[in-house]
Amino acid sequence: MLLGCIADDFTGATDLANNLVRHGMRVVQTIGVPADGASIDADAVVVALKSRTIEPADAVAQSLAALAWLRAAGAPQIYFKVCSTFDSTDRGNIGPVAEALLAALGGDFAAVCPAFPENQRTVFKGHLFVGDLLLSDSSMRHHPLTPMTDANLVRVLQRQCQGRVALIDHETVRAGAPAIGQRIAALRAAGARFAIVDAIANDDLMTMGRAFAGLPLLVAGSGVAIGLPQNHGLAASAAAARLPGPGGARAIVSGSCSAASNAQVADFLARGGEGFAVDPLRIAAGEDVAAAALDWARARLGERPVLFYATAEPAAVKAVQDRLGVERAGGLVEDTLAAIARGLVAQGVGQLIVAGGETSGACVQALDVAQLRIGPQIDPGVPWCHAASPAAGAAGLHLALKSGNFGTPDFFTKAFAGLA
Ligand code: ADP
Repeated sequence: MLLGCIADDFTGATDLANNLVRHGMRVVQTIGVPADGASIDADAVVVALKSRTIEPADAVAQSLAALAWLRAAGAPQIYFKVCSTFDSTDRGNIGPVAEALLAALGGDFAAVCPAFPENQRTVFKGHLFVGDLLLSDSSMRHHPLTPMTDANLVRVLQRQCQGRVALIDHETVRAGAPAIGQRIAALRAAGARFAIVDAIANDDLMTMGRAFAGLPLLVAGSGVAIGLPQNHGLAASAAAARLPGPGGARAIVSGSCSAASNAQVADFLARGGEGFAVDPLRIAAGEDVAAAALDWARARLGERPVLFYATAEPAAVKAVQDRLGVERAGGLVEDTLAAIARGLVAQGVGQLIVAGGETSGACVQALDVAQLRIGPQIDPGVPWCHAASPAAGAAGLHLALKSGNFGTPDFFTKAFAGLA
């Protein structure tokens, strides 16, 4: 293994894995920490945790467990993947987890950079920009769990850390990898534990990737990953994204109500695709909607994909939530869609798209998927994956897990065409 990664949420893990694959690393993403002694054949393993907003002590414990597994598996460098908008509070969890990982690695310095210019996340003089706005002027200032009201990441991280946080500014980055290396040496000598590193273009990420080759720990968004495969003589190629050949019938399960998913469902139906609408009120009334959906599916499964969707416009979702409560409505729909996904795979679906972050989590759990081999990108942040699942038999299952707002309107059609 060339790189061991610990991601603080599931879709962030996939985003990171996708970037590593695009730049030449073969990657497996695991859901939680793999079992002791499990062996995984990959250049990089990304352990997906759900630790972004849990208690700091729990986030530290889970991250250390992931670290222990990755080190036992031989990972020479560790990448702690955080949100590109640095989602955290003064209590953590970025600082406490980063300090615990650094201490466990016996290191004295880590580089920190959430920038991903391709996705409109840049860092200049330590300040994070989302598009043209400072982080603190972006919609992230209203985030319900991690409101980001300070764009100065040196200050933000310092509030979460015991050790000193410094800056490696863009002038140094632009001067090249040796200059970054000299600055790191000077900061370490002066007792700094972390440095926020500026990046305003992908070239900056490639430069810092070379400079970071010898560091035990990187704390970053998914962007810094693009500069790391080159340190191992790897470059972008289709080989890293190769998956076993696809087989079985094709289906889509959508529980996302975001604007992109609504457009994707509408586009699929407008092209003449067949869809089964999952009505939360019928589930709440005690009907076995999953069984009805699977009955409906039986005569229709094949090469032409079929769609199962609870996806609805905001007004319809609100009406359901007013009647059932937000959590109950969400839970009922997730359970039903997960049962449908499992039933579909048992009926011979071998290529499955799931739309929605929470919905994906529920489906992956229902399918008992523990690991995903990451394949080719469909749209930014969404790759095809291949997974073993007890429901799927020996051939396994091709899965695309799309979080809400990702993908172009023709995503459902385009994704299957790209897999053939
Ligand atoms: P996204 O990635 O777009 O946020 P998620 O799957 O994470 O999608 O979240 C969508 C949530 O909305 C899920 O809990 C899902 O069960 C719920 N949901 C889906 N359809 C409906 C609906 N018609 N009415 C109410 N809640 C719904």
